[in-house]
Amino acid sequence: MAQELKKYIRKELLSFGAYSSPVASDAQAEEAGVSLNKIIKIDQNENLYGPSPRVSRALAKYKTFNIYPDAEQTAFRKQISEYTGVSPDGIVGANGSNQLLDIITRLFVGEGDGVINFAPTFDIYRFSTQICGGELIEIQRDEKFAVDVKAIRKAVDKKTKLIFLANPNAPTGNLTPQKDIVEILDLGLPTCIDEAYYEFSGLTVVPLMKKYPNLMIVRTFSKWAGLAGLRIGYGLFPTDIAELIHRIKIPYNINVAALAAVQESMEDLAYLMERVKTIVAERDRLYAGLKKTSWLRPYPSKANFILCKLLKGSAADLQEQLQKKGILVRYFAKPRLENCIRLSIGRTEHTDIILNTLRKIGDTW
Ligand SMILES: *Cc1c(COP(=O)(O)O)cnc(C)c1O
Repeated sequence: MAQELKKYIRKELLSFGAYSSPVASDAQAEEAGVSLNKIIKIDQNENLYGPSPRVSRALAKYKTFNIYPDAEQTAFRKQISEYTGVSPDGIVGANGSNQLLDIITRLFVGEGDGVINFAPTFDIYRFSTQICGGELIEIQRDEKFAVDVKAIRKAVDKKTKLIFLANPNAPTGNLTPQKDIVEILDLGLPTCIDEAYYEFSGLTVVPLMKKYPNLMIVRTFSKWAGLAGLRIGYGLFPTDIAELIHRIKIPYNINVAALAAVQESMEDLAYLMERVKTIVAERDRLYAGLKKTSWLRPYPSKANFILCKLLKGSAADLQEQLQKKGILVRYFAKPRLENCIRLSIGRTEHTDIILNTLRKIGDTW
C-alpha cells in the first residue's frame, strides 16, 4: 500500500483480525483430487438437503429483478410475525443474521465501550465490536462450556454496553439454561441472544421479550431453511429498538431473491421442519457413534453440528486427512478448541461414511 495513503486509514484497523472462513469447497475438492459432487461438506453447518424445492421454482419464474425490494420489508415482517408471534414493528430483516449482529453493535458500541461474550463462541461478536472501536470482554465458559453467570457481574462496569450470547452456542453446541439467561437479563444491559440454531434446539427466549425490554433475539434462514447462500436473517426487538435498527441499517439490505425464498420457505414449513427432524435424529446417531470411538469425545449438542475432542493425535492433522478423503470439517486454531474438530450434520447417508472414515484414520495412528 502506498505509504501516503496508510496514514489516512484508521490505525486500529491496520492490524484488524479478519473473520476466518474455510477455503471454498471447489478449491478444497481440487486439492484433494475428489470431484465436487463427492465432497461431504460438513464445515459450515449448512443444510445439505438444500432449500425447499419451491425456492428454485419461484426464483426461476421471478421477473422483476430490475426493481428495488420493498424498503419497509412489509411482507417479510408479516410472515416472520406469524412465525414468531412478535409484532411486525419489532422485526427487522437483514442480509444474513451476521449483518444484524453488526448493526446491533453499531447501535450500542462506540470507541472504548465494552462488549461481553462467552468464550469460546462465534467470532462475529468480536469482529463487529472491534470494527466499532469497542473492547471485547471475553468471559471464559467452564470445562463443559457452561456460562459462568457470577463472573458476568464482576466483569460489568460503566463502559459495558452490550452482551452477546449464542444459544445454542457455536461451535460448542450446548444450551444455556433459561434461569441463567434470566439472571443475565436482570443486569439490565442490552442483551442479544443469537438463536441461529433455534429450529434444531426447539428452545427460544421469545416469551421473555414481554418482561425484558433489554432483550434482542437474532435468527437466520441459513441453517434450518437451507438459504445460507442467499444471506437472510432477522432480529426480534422491542419496537423502539427495532425502529432505530431500521433507521441505521443500509436501505434495501435484503435482496428480492432472498425475500422470495423466505416467502416460499414459510409456505413450505412442514416440509422444512421434517428435514430438521431428520437432521436432529442424525445428530444423535452421529453423537452415539463418536462416543463409541475410543479416541474421540463428542460434546452434547442441541444444534446441527457436533464439536468433538480428540484424545490422541492432532485435530489439525485430522482435518487434513479427512479433507484428502473428501470430507470437509472445521478446525479452530483457538484457545480451548485446539484439540477439537467440528462436524456439521449432513444427510442421513453421510453419517456412516464419516464414522467409518474416522475409525480408519484412528486405526493408523
Ligand atoms: C451460522 C451462524 C449465524 C448465521 O449467520 P448468517 O449471517 O445468518 O448466515 C449466526 N450466528 C451463529 C452463532 C452462527 O453459528
